[in-house]
Amino acid sequence: MNLVEKDLKYIWHPCSQMKDYEKLKSIIIDHGKGIYLYDKDGKEYIDIVSSWWCNLLGHCNPTINEYIKNQLDNLEHVIFANFSHEPAIKLCEELSKIIPEGLTKFNFSDNGSASVESALKMSFQYQYQMGNKKKTKFMCLSEGYHGETIGALSVGSMDLYAKIYKLMLMDTIHVEAPDCYRCPYGKTRECCNAECFEHAEKSFNKYGEETCAIIIEPLLQGSAGMRIYPPIYLKKLRKICDEYKVILIADEIATGFGRTGKMFAFDHANVSPDIMCVSKGLTGGYMPMAITITTDEIYNAFYDDYNKGKAFMHSHTYSGNPLGCSAALAVQKILREEAILEKANVRADYLNNKLKDALLEHQNIGEIRSIGLINAMELVKDKKTKEGYDSELRIGYEVYKRALNKGLILRPLGNVLYFNPPLIINEEEIDKAVSICKESIEDIIYQY
Ligand SMILES: *Cc1c(COP(=O)(O)O)cnc(C)c1O
Repeated sequence: MNLVEKDLKYIWHPCSQMKDYEKLKSIIIDHGKGIYLYDKDGKEYIDIVSSWWCNLLGHCNPTINEYIKNQLDNLEHVIFANFSHEPAIKLCEELSKIIPEGLTKFNFSDNGSASVESALKMSFQYQYQMGNKKKTKFMCLSEGYHGETIGALSVGSMDLYAKIYKLMLMDTIHVEAPDCYRCPYGKTRECCNAECFEHAEKSFNKYGEETCAIIIEPLLQGSAGMRIYPPIYLKKLRKICDEYKVILIADEIATGFGRTGKMFAFDHANVSPDIMCVSKGLTGGYMPMAITITTDEIYNAFYDDYNKGKAFMHSHTYSGNPLGCSAALAVQKILREEAILEKANVRADYLNNKLKDALLEHQNIGEIRSIGLINAMELVKDKKTKEGYDSELRIGYEVYKRALNKGLILRPLGNVLYFNPPLIINEEEIDKAVSICKESIEDIIYQY
């Protein structure tokens, strides 16, 4: 049996209908370098989706490798209750310099969903311990995505992931999210004043007193199809959260560390959340690690004599893993010393222009939206009415298969194709990716 056959025999892959693998088998990756992945036969693939949005600075980055290797010979892991280590402490010190103002305390976990669970429990317990015992509900945006554990699914709104589990989930309040491509107010991005915030206002008026926290993906609803909305929405949200004493949780798992052109999406709005979840790019996509970062005010509500029972009794075995912290320290060093964001912003314009030149005129590309290096193309049946394709046609998936053949990993979100490359992608690599993307779309779409 070869590796591909053994893969099918043993492995239940994430987020996959395994029957699809009969036709499109697993690609066995041997090694990676920069934005490229190489399979066993030496075929190269451009990792334009950053291996599920986590690879920030390219595969096999020499600095990150060196940091992990050095740490490996010192200490691989240690219990994080009552014990600590230099990489974790240094990392918090470094992150303190770049995170939104007011965020001061770091609670470690080992994946994005876990950091969301931590944020939800922390908010709930905070409100309880502050005497706000009516505040027990969570608010979230429609089409939101915060991970796939039960708590995180409950504050997500995507039927694709949540529908079957409805009976298992918490009862949460869903606010209609901004939908800028199909704006019901007929506004353009230029003249928008976040009129759609009226939905949030209504929900706060009705449920604000019983709401303990609201969680959002700031500026970019990733899994929903890279839906982008303006910073003014965050400003309004900050204000109303203060009025109703509702904790504002920023899920920056996908947007953190330069993905939107600034270090964090909240930086575009010049306001701070009360809790911020980071993961994915935190370790450059090397190690599973996440942090729930919060304020002194929230932290202090848990700080008391042990027998008062106010501690945050929440843990994960691999909290604060030293190898993860070392990778994250290397990422901070590179971001700091190599002007990664400045350079990425120049290439973000380049990429957006290239894609628009190549595809904006196409009759089945409804919109090319972008923030930072993230660019999304929505495939539509009719450009004027913005009518989408029937999801059962799986057009995005067909384009994906075609692009794979040509060496580009264009894994879609339904009918939305997107680029979310490592921040170090260069112009030549962009040209290549755009041209494969254009060819693949043209090869497939006329058949529908
Ligand atoms: C990926 C993601 C998560 C979940 O992170 P996992 O590590 O996959 O559990 C949560 N929120 C957002 C916005 C994400 O993009």
